[in-house]
Amino acid sequence: MKAHIRPSSPRQPAEPVRQEGLRSLNLELVFRHILAASVPISRTELATGTGLTRPTISRIVEELLAGRLITESGLTHDGRAGRPRVGLTISDKGPAGLGLDIRSDGLAACVVDLTGTVRHLAFAPSTYTDQGAPAVLAELARMAGTAIEATAAEELTVVTATLAVPGPVDAGLVRSAPALGWRNVDAGALLRGATQNLDLPISVDNIGVDNEANLAALGELYASDNTLSSFVYVSGGLGIGAGIVLDGQLLRGVRGWSGELGHVTVYPDGKPCPCGSRGCLQTYASLPAILSDEPVPPHSTPDAAVTSRADAGDPGTLAALDTAGTALGIALSDMINILDIDTVLLGGAFSLLSSWLTATARTELNQRVLTAAWAPITVRPAQLGPDAAVIGAALTAIDQIRQHPTAWLLRPPPP
Ligand SMILES: [Zn+2]
Repeated sequence: MKAHIRPSSPRQPAEPVRQEGLRSLNLELVFRHILAASVPISRTELATGTGLTRPTISRIVEELLAGRLITESGLTHDGRAGRPRVGLTISDKGPAGLGLDIRSDGLAACVVDLTGTVRHLAFAPSTYTDQGAPAVLAELARMAGTAIEATAAEELTVVTATLAVPGPVDAGLVRSAPALGWRNVDAGALLRGATQNLDLPISVDNIGVDNEANLAALGELYASDNTLSSFVYVSGGLGIGAGIVLDGQLLRGVRGWSGELGHVTVYPDGKPCPCGSRGCLQTYASLPAILSDEPVPPHSTPDAAVTSRADAGDPGTLAALDTAGTALGIALSDMINILDIDTVLLGGAFSLLSSWLTATARTELNQRVLTAAWAPITVRPAQLGPDAAVIGAALTAIDQIRQHPTAWLLRPPPP
């Protein structure tokens, strides 16, 4: 798959800085101009656009070319008379970011290049909830190895990775992921250990861990090419999480734990939730809630089991999906009344179930959101479907280099 996704718009270039000691700022300024250009840009245009001298531009371009961050791309006329000039563009060979995701229906790995293009996307259906965290992360490390090998053949070097997990994360520590049966699991350390055991060429310092709904929301933000600036991404699966984007920025909260939509109270006297509360959204709308006590057939996943039963018109499943959609609409109404957001993206397993959830959710939203009568709320499946989190994770990984190219160029040589 080579779907092109434009990562977050680079920060506006600052004024040029001429002191020799601040060379790196000028390098980042030039790099951002190349990132922001929709077509290859010439050295002359860079000089005009940045206010830097032509020799400075030439030196910086040589550094960026040597670091494989940019590449020369044919000739451009740059709107001037005279001979065509060599165009410069972001390199699709060179450093790349790896995303890893633990989904309700399996494990996923994704590699994105510096242009934001998905170059590798792999999914392994798996029922891992009965396995311990070390086994799950060892399997993910193996998938990472395959992804790194496949993209190395295309001259890409995976240098950074982000793992998506369904729960609040605190510096690599997964505080609670009831869907996985994890509590205080140091996923970052386990994954680092697993990659070291496999001798994968990722620096141990460059593996991040983040909440999957947050990463998926970032993936959707990037995929929308900045046409979507405020929305809530709802990730449905064994649990339910949300990623909130307001004015183009992910709303993370004080500790990055925002968006625990699954534990918003829908019915105060409702069913007990594993979190200790009652009537949480999760107890009505997660996949286990929709499945009720129906077992998942062998070799299937909760996602596939619900979808196939709904497709077959199973009355119990359809009624459970109506209940789930209603509960989802009630929970989202509170969020939208507070945040003034007009778009809801249904992601994870919900992206596959949206045709059964949307109508009932919308009925509740129209009834409960004060402004719905004159400002309709859009509820639709996420553009990237169940892959949003793994793609968002890979893009987040590569964004480190996009934001800080100097750190990449000055990195110590591999041992
Ligand atoms: Zn709860």
